[in-house]
Amino acid sequence: MTVRRVEVSGTVPYAVEAGPGLLADGERLARHVRGRHVLLVSDGNVAPLYADGVEAALLAARPQLQMARIVLPPGEQEKTLSRFGEVIDALAGLGATRDATVLALGGGVVGDLAGFAAACWMRGVDIVQLPTTLLAMVDSSVGGKTAVDLPAGKNLVGAFHPPRAVIADTATLRTLPDRELRAGLAEVVKYGAIMDADFLGWLEAHAERLLARDNAALAEAIVHSCACKAAVVARDPLEHGERALLNFGHTFGHAIETEQGYAGAGGGLNHGEAVAVGMVLAARLSARLGMAPDADADRLQRLLERLGLPVSLPHGLDGGALLARMRLDKKASGSGIRLVLWDRAGAARLVGDVSDEAILTVLS
Ligand code: ADP
Ligand code: ZN
Repeated sequence: MTVRRVEVSGTVPYAVEAGPGLLADGERLARHVRGRHVLLVSDGNVAPLYADGVEAALLAARPQLQMARIVLPPGEQEKTLSRFGEVIDALAGLGATRDATVLALGGGVVGDLAGFAAACWMRGVDIVQLPTTLLAMVDSSVGGKTAVDLPAGKNLVGAFHPPRAVIADTATLRTLPDRELRAGLAEVVKYGAIMDADFLGWLEAHAERLLARDNAALAEAIVHSCACKAAVVARDPLEHGERALLNFGHTFGHAIETEQGYAGAGGGLNHGEAVAVGMVLAARLSARLGMAPDADADRLQRLLERLGLPVSLPHGLDGGALLARMRLDKKASGSGIRLVLWDRAGAARLVGDVSDEAILTVLS
């Protein structure tokens, strides 16, 4: 099986590699380890499955490494300053020097937290992302954003700290719960929706293979998604303009997530699912405003449905309340609401001052 690879440019360029079995390839991992100290950060679901394998592979390639491991309880509620402190303590316990490497083995929560610890330890040491959720493979591990949450809000404390490498072992997705896989696919569809209509066509042709977790199809989707994200981030690393396009479906999605109280694990929608609904709402709104053809919104909706994602608002959410949440979203500003809408499938743009009336037509 071939390894797919994409370069991410920036002040310090790095590569995203995707394919099955990469975490067993010690030489590949060792390539990104400069010094002697390695701290592996993972969570209680992922560590029992993959941490021994990663450590064994790395030690076989570099027997002289000094490795330590910290396993955090799983879940977004653990992305806290106090867990961040535990990771920092683990680096101190290891006696990690400035050439140390932090390995983030897990989903977006582990990646964000470990990345932020790496950004802060001695003002910055290497972080290598080993994402094990599709969402982390196509989104959070690329772009260099790291953060923890505060009671006052998500991702309020953080830093830009790009990884030294992202190694996405598609074989790890075999153990990912179905719902988490589909949530990742929503973000994959997003890249096609905002900037690449051909990729949407590819996704339509390969939906079944993706759902069946075919390694080659997943690797292709991951690398293509990362290439899209990298292109956007390269043009706007600090999120002044174009990077906002990555928020397609997200202003609606965040409103849904907050309004249902982040009930993702229970009855509510998780992030990817909320974004799926949000993208359909954004596409429908674009059509209402006469910007884009309704047929494109239909096409997006059909693809998301085939991928097992929700495409309409969950019952019981109030349109007015969602609108109020959207106004509070940090990505909204000015008088009207700023939204990423599209001119057609594959061509999104930021539109300022969208009226409440227009938005309410798709929320009811
Ligand atoms: P994200 O979806 O942002 O990547 P998390 O880091 O919270 O979010 O990961 C989602 C859940 O999936 C967590 O409970 C995590 O422990 C679990 N998980 C992550 N990767 C795998 C995997 N490959 N197999 C099984 N469970 C996994
Ligand atoms: Zn997202």
